[in-house]
Amino acid sequence: MTTQNNQSCNTSTELDFATRAIHQAQGADPSTGALITPIFQTSTFVLEELGKNKGYQYARTHNPTRTALEECLASLENARYGVACASGLAAVSVVAGILKAGDHVIVGEDVYGGVYRLFERVFSRYDIKFTYVNTRNIDEVEAAINEKTRLIWLETPTNPLLRLADLQAVGDLAKAHNLIYVVDNTFATPYFQRPLEFGANVIVHSTTKYLSGHSDIIGGAVITSDEELYEQIKFVQNATGAVPGPFDCYLALRGIKTLALRMREHERNAQAVAEFLESHPQVQEVYYPGLKSHPQHELARRQMSGFGGMVSFVVKGGLPAARALVNGTKLFQLAESLGGVKSLLCHPSSMTHAPIPRDVQEHCGIVEGLVRLSVGIESAADLISDLEQALYLASQTSDVVAAKTLVALK
Ligand SMILES: *Cc1c(COP(=O)(O)O)cnc(C)c1O
Repeated sequence: MTTQNNQSCNTSTELDFATRAIHQAQGADPSTGALITPIFQTSTFVLEELGKNKGYQYARTHNPTRTALEECLASLENARYGVACASGLAAVSVVAGILKAGDHVIVGEDVYGGVYRLFERVFSRYDIKFTYVNTRNIDEVEAAINEKTRLIWLETPTNPLLRLADLQAVGDLAKAHNLIYVVDNTFATPYFQRPLEFGANVIVHSTTKYLSGHSDIIGGAVITSDEELYEQIKFVQNATGAVPGPFDCYLALRGIKTLALRMREHERNAQAVAEFLESHPQVQEVYYPGLKSHPQHELARRQMSGFGGMVSFVVKGGLPAARALVNGTKLFQLAESLGGVKSLLCHPSSMTHAPIPRDVQEHCGIVEGLVRLSVGIESAADLISDLEQALYLASQTSDVVAAKTLVALK
């Protein structure tokens, strides 16, 4: 696939996803027979003679542990090339690094906050312009195109409201206008959604999340089948230098081996949790693409093979109730990030989305009662009882009790 060596395992893409996650580019080490891809903890590689190397020269450019990760990731997205990066945002940076002054980019209005910050506070200084649109509405995406537009950037499902963009509709638009179409596939993972099949040119991942899956590394990746884009992205990465270390690549590869079974379990638990929440009197609204009540459930079924492990909901009683709930869970840990085996929860309006002004938050649906869950792979029954007792705590907050009293008095 991508680079020189590590072709020892000629696994073809005809093998199933779960098999490729374990075998692709991960054949036994040819020099020792080591079953598992070794951590090549070295900065440089000795030349056999002047002008002759074994495919590796300096570890900013290539490292065999990283190559194995890159080839495996590319295979999982049914792509030709992978570039592993030091973080998800490093992956975003190298893609944005192929743009030039004067270029215009159309961006989903609810992209990850760090992506918004990078575009607005760093790349805008190089005279690259960004327009933020509601990607649920294809007309709004089309209306934002101008003669300077070079790229469309979106996430689906989005954070934290699990809204979807129609991957094929945007793909058709990008093709008609000759735009580079980038999808951040962090939430769905290639196990549930492969945007290249709908016309995307580039996939970005924060491997920090589901791909590594154990909340123990920061990592990212860029994946494409377009050779020219690959060469440009690889050039920018080598020139700017934000590469992952071999130990983190090893951990990402270790995580990916169980991606298929973890994602099935994340989804099973998330569906159970979402259905529980939907039936709970203390819950006002639940956002999960796997629920029939999700306004884009049919689109989710068309373009995804599963609905993922992220669930958001609005607890009745506003901020006091949300505070009681997030402080009151015992299994769900209060933390940013997502996608690991351990369940997490967060309060977007005061955590991940805090830098966004309150009125803009409200406009985007990020109300003070909103809670986001990253449903892990513990027992679903234990997760549900944890939420049940925390929802009871939420129901005892003064606002909720006062509202109930008011109703009783009427
Ligand atoms: C976390 C995240 C990022 C940023 O990744 P880091 O690894 O934290 O740099 C980008 N996009 C999405 C959707 C994310 O969830």
